Amino acid sequence: MNDTRSQVTIDLAALRHNVGRLRSAAGSAALYAVVKADGYGHGAVDVGLAALAGGAEALCVATVAEGALLRRSIREARIIVMGPFTASEGIVARDRQLEVAVSALPLPEGLRCHVKVDTGMGRWGMPPSEAAEVPADDVVGVMSHLATADEPDRSFARRQIERFAEVAARFPGAVRHIANSAATLRLPEATFDAARCGLAIYGLSPFHDDPASHGLRPVLSWRSTVVYERRLRAGESTGYGRRFRASAETRIGLVPVGYADGWARGLGDAEVLVDGVRAPIAGAISMDSFAVVLPPATGAGSTVSLIGDGLLAEEHAARSGTITYELVCRIRTDESRARRRTVDHG
Ligand SMILES: *Cc1c(COP(=O)(O)O)cnc(C)c1O
Repeated sequence: MNDTRSQVTIDLAALRHNVGRLRSAAGSAALYAVVKADGYGHGAVDVGLAALAGGAEALCVATVAEGALLRRSIREARIIVMGPFTASEGIVARDRQLEVAVSALPLPEGLRCHVKVDTGMGRWGMPPSEAAEVPADDVVGVMSHLATADEPDRSFARRQIERFAEVAARFPGAVRHIANSAATLRLPEATFDAARCGLAIYGLSPFHDDPASHGLRPVLSWRSTVVYERRLRAGESTGYGRRFRASAETRIGLVPVGYADGWARGLGDAEVLVDGVRAPIAGAISMDSFAVVLPPATGAGSTVSLIGDGLLAEEHAARSGTITYELVCRIRTDESRARRRTVDHG
């Protein structure tokens, strides 16, 4: 029904490939697939099942509600809630057999707990001194999070890793995990017993460059169609604020995707592919549509690739002053806006 608006396609074979790439980067450590925010906009259930099939040993989410939703479709797997939770959410977590990260004492009863230690992120997590008071027998894991693993200067990340190793030594039986995607790919000393990877399993580069240079394959494609073609005469404009004015007669195509669909207004200077040919966006992106300058031999009915078919999310993120994390997790795929489907070629 929404085929006329846009389609998000999730390539599960590419996802399994990325999981394999990260598993080999993680060496003997386990891979935990991070599927918070509906799998970074890719669909947490589809991604979670594919990641488990590819050898991931647990799934990580941000909230108890995300974990509970995932549990409906994924009965057996370990699910770890990394973010904070209320007392009533703690009851839900126990009920659905979700593991939790705990940032303050006392430890909640009847839950499998990962002690979250702040080693320098300055966000969630207890200070190392408080972690020293946690009864070690009651925890299944000890974890921390890196603030700068994607940056060229590795010194702060290394200091966090050293602090973490010191704290983690107090929990001999616990699974130690601190690495995210960036650390898994370039800081081997960060992997300990498990690596929590999000971005890279989706084939997006934690270093904001071409994912292929890290052996990753993009998983998500986002396509729509030119639904209407029109001609602007010299001096005429399209869209709010008249931001695009034709200097000569120009054919533009209207695409029914806008910032309400997650196609951010900041992408006004981006390019898309129209039947595979690069074309600049014309004018301001509206809530429900945007215009593109049509290349020769394209028009109403032409396919528009917003992301994929060789067009990288990294390029859009750089042009619009954001990161791919934000770009993909904002894509709206509820049925009133778009249709998401999976493909699996091998
Ligand atoms: C989101 C998140 C991750 C995954 O980070 P990526 O950079 O996407 O690999 C790992 N750990 C925690 C605590 C997170 O919130």
